[in-house]
Amino acid sequence: MTALEIVRIPVLSDNYVWLVHDSDSGATMVVDPAVADPVLAAAATRGWTITDIWNTHWHPDHTGGNAEIKEATGCTITGPAAEFARIPTLDVKVQGGDTVRLGNHIASVWDVPAHTAGHIAYHFADDAAIFVGDTMFAMGCGRLFEGTAEQMFANMQKLGALDDATRVYCAHEYTLSNARFAVTVEPDNDALAARLAAVEAARAAGEATVPTTIGAERATNPFLRARDAADLGRIRALKDAA
Ligand SMILES: [Zn+2]
Repeated sequence: MTALEIVRIPVLSDNYVWLVHDSDSGATMVVDPAVADPVLAAAATRGWTITDIWNTHWHPDHTGGNAEIKEATGCTITGPAAEFARIPTLDVKVQGGDTVRLGNHIASVWDVPAHTAGHIAYHFADDAAIFVGDTMFAMGCGRLFEGTAEQMFANMQKLGALDDATRVYCAHEYTLSNARFAVTVEPDNDALAARLAAVEAARAAGEATVPTTIGAERATNPFLRARDAADLGRIRALKDAA
């Protein structure tokens, strides 16, 4: 089985759309298309036709391109069953424990409620890759719009149990802001200080800092490193006020 090709498409002010291609079958999937045109263009440049869209949650900056891409390609749209009413373009409703397929690559669906009530993630175990939407960011986590610190803590624990090498494809370039906040939470964390310096250099050079890895997050993400749900909630409240 050939490795998935994964292309990062920066859109809007800080969103990343992920274009995922299986060269064996020719299947091409888009995770969370905020918009359509740059995504269609990125696929066309590579000679790929989009066969699938996978949504992680209903927010418009994750689903806004659904209708136009489907219109252009006839693709199938898969997303969280619990948010069906808020994603009217969905064709296939999935929830935690389900599996979805891109060619011969199988992803398991995880329920990761907290940012939104029905938020899901897609884990390609054999590819050591997980698409987390707005659940985990580099050195951060999503805001708790529709859920609790307890839920987000459980999500962080589950993500943190993956292998260090697992690549985490999050949906925003929030890394620099997150790093600057994280060092205030863990001022004595040398790995975090080093990562902040590296991120500052990367962003100054106009480089993306995503995907991240579970190993990097275990060393530097204060939300993943929170002792318990109350600690995560405390840190989240500080970040919201920052
Ligand atoms: Zn969101």
